[in-house]
Amino acid sequence: MTTVDLPLLPLGHGRDLSAERGVECPGDLPPASDPDLVARAQAAKEALGDRVFVLGHHYQRDEVIQFADVTGDSFKLAREAAARPEAEYIVFCGVHFMAESADILTGPGQQVVLPDLAAGCSMADMARLAQVEDAWDALTEAGIADSVVPVTYMNSSADIKAFCGRNGGAVCTSSNADVALEWAFEQKPDAKVLFLPDQHLGRNTAILKMGMTLEDCVVWDPRQPNGGLTADQLRDARMILWKGHCSVHGRFSPDVVDDLRATIPGVQVLVHPECQHEVVLKADLVGSTEFIIKTIEAAPAGSSWAIGTELNLVKRLAADHPDKHIAFLDKTVCYCSTMNRIDLPHLVWALESLVGGTVVNRIEVDPETEAQAKVALQRMLDLPGRSHKD
Ligand code: SF4
Repeated sequence: MTTVDLPLLPLGHGRDLSAERGVECPGDLPPASDPDLVARAQAAKEALGDRVFVLGHHYQRDEVIQFADVTGDSFKLAREAAARPEAEYIVFCGVHFMAESADILTGPGQQVVLPDLAAGCSMADMARLAQVEDAWDALTEAGIADSVVPVTYMNSSADIKAFCGRNGGAVCTSSNADVALEWAFEQKPDAKVLFLPDQHLGRNTAILKMGMTLEDCVVWDPRQPNGGLTADQLRDARMILWKGHCSVHGRFSPDVVDDLRATIPGVQVLVHPECQHEVVLKADLVGSTEFIIKTIEAAPAGSSWAIGTELNLVKRLAADHPDKHIAFLDKTVCYCSTMNRIDLPHLVWALESLVGGTVVNRIEVDPETEAQAKVALQRMLDLPGRSHKD
């Protein structure tokens, strides 16, 4: 069992209602220096028994992951929570949009808790509902909205998923984005896709899996009038990519791939499709967090890998596979600062509050949003033959 202090980006105080996350954390947290934190978390979990189910995303710190009943990507975790109807409390060690998805997929008798409300996602925050509705209005004015199918990545807020649900669209994960795009292009004659909120996953999937070209893709910048695009550009595009990205995966750069290939003989480069297109083009293998984990598990002893995903996961893979050489695909520290908000003091505080009968930091999606988001999620679940991993 470990406790590790990691640097965090300072976040603001108060509440940002227009973001997909809150930024408050009410309550008295135990100090990080408390030597009894591990024992306190264990005692609280034992006291709650089957009434609590703790989920841990792959990008969480080790000090938190050690208390997870199950680890996984966001969609796997939401489904695991839904499969535990006896668990009154779902403590989600991940970020805000994941806790929302868990609330959408779990039953009415289950309450989802996010130990720190500041654990948002910068990518999800890059597509706000008002911005997306403005974009839809502009597409309507340009006369093309009728042919546009919105598809949102799992890494988006519940109200963006609901927007897709009520406008004939679907959710996708990084494992099934190509199947979701195939489905979307079949929905209407001359269909176009509005892909939210990760431009990189949208572009990489369109070009590498769907045979499109860079010319088929345009980027909608919500800060520019008309997205920064002309009516002709919109009419000619097949993929309208929302200008969002992951602040972690977007950092990897193609020159580091070149450097590592020059310094590590035989290295294989394995990256997540949230990375920039130029990085993905230089990689040997591209896939979701679950794909990355399975690839390393199946790799022969002595093989060398450079991995482009969140650093907590890469460090855990290196520790779990000492017979393989595992390098991180960045020159600098590259943790997800919001994932790292969930630390042991917050987990202890959330669990002990539940033991005391108080549900703190509950994440609850309103019924209308939930119903519409479920429509988009169900369309994903109905896609043919592909696992639904993040
Ligand atoms: S790693 Fe990227 S996509 Fe995942 S929670 Fe952090 S900012 Fe969001």
